[in-house]
Amino acid sequence: MPEGPEIRRAADRLDAYVTGKPLIELELPDWVDADSTALRDSGITAVRTHGKLMWVEFGTGHALTIHLQLYGRWRFGRVEPAMSRSRRAAFVGPQGGGWLYSATDVYLLPPGVSPERPRGLDPLHPETTAATLATRLLASPRRQIGSQLLDQNVVAGIGNYLRCDALFLAGVAPERRAIDLSESRLNALAAALLLLSRRSLATTGITINSELFADERAARIPRRFARHYVYGRAGHPCRSCGRPITRETIAARPFYACRHCQR
Ligand SMILES: [Zn+2]
Repeated sequence: MPEGPEIRRAADRLDAYVTGKPLIELELPDWVDADSTALRDSGITAVRTHGKLMWVEFGTGHALTIHLQLYGRWRFGRVEPAMSRSRRAAFVGPQGGGWLYSATDVYLLPPGVSPERPRGLDPLHPETTAATLATRLLASPRRQIGSQLLDQNVVAGIGNYLRCDALFLAGVAPERRAIDLSESRLNALAAALLLLSRRSLATTGITINSELFADERAARIPRRFARHYVYGRAGHPCRSCGRPITRETIAARPFYACRHCQR
């Protein structure tokens, strides 16, 4: 499932094609009851995100909320690509646009109704800091941090790869609770969530630092094993201690870790 950085990247691409530009084509899902000609003529004024939720604001004051869930896919370009999936929506400006496929969680809100955002802080928002994130993690001090990090009402936009890699980078075991961690370790975890979310947005999904990534790619390590610290790397050596990365199940999702480095 795409995580916050993937959703924000899609929003940025859509924004570049349509915000403030005349809409050549607007297609909405057939279950959306709306005057699409009026929406098209009013144009798109903003494309916003909070965590994994995206919404498109129209000049009429309506907002179209889009949650990709597991199956939704975006494609962008000058012309619509060939896709075997069912097209749900199209947003096309003078230079091209975005096409949305397979998503079912798409709703049009009338003017004056705000999208129901998850309550968690979004690490990609400029006002979110490591200090505010650490405070939010402490709000449920006795929950295991490995499951807390997937709760969109705690941190919005964190999914499995960001969860696994941030816990590794901070050296924290997923069974720990916020109350068990010293202030400096909790701050390190909050800083890792912020750093990796922002880095992944900038690098199209790479969480490790760029020198390390370049070294591993030069050594012919496939991209999917080179791009993360631990996520998806079961059996590969830990980049810190060399012991094999393990794969377990935590909060019903695969969890990758170095059980030696994460305490
Ligand atoms: Zn290790």
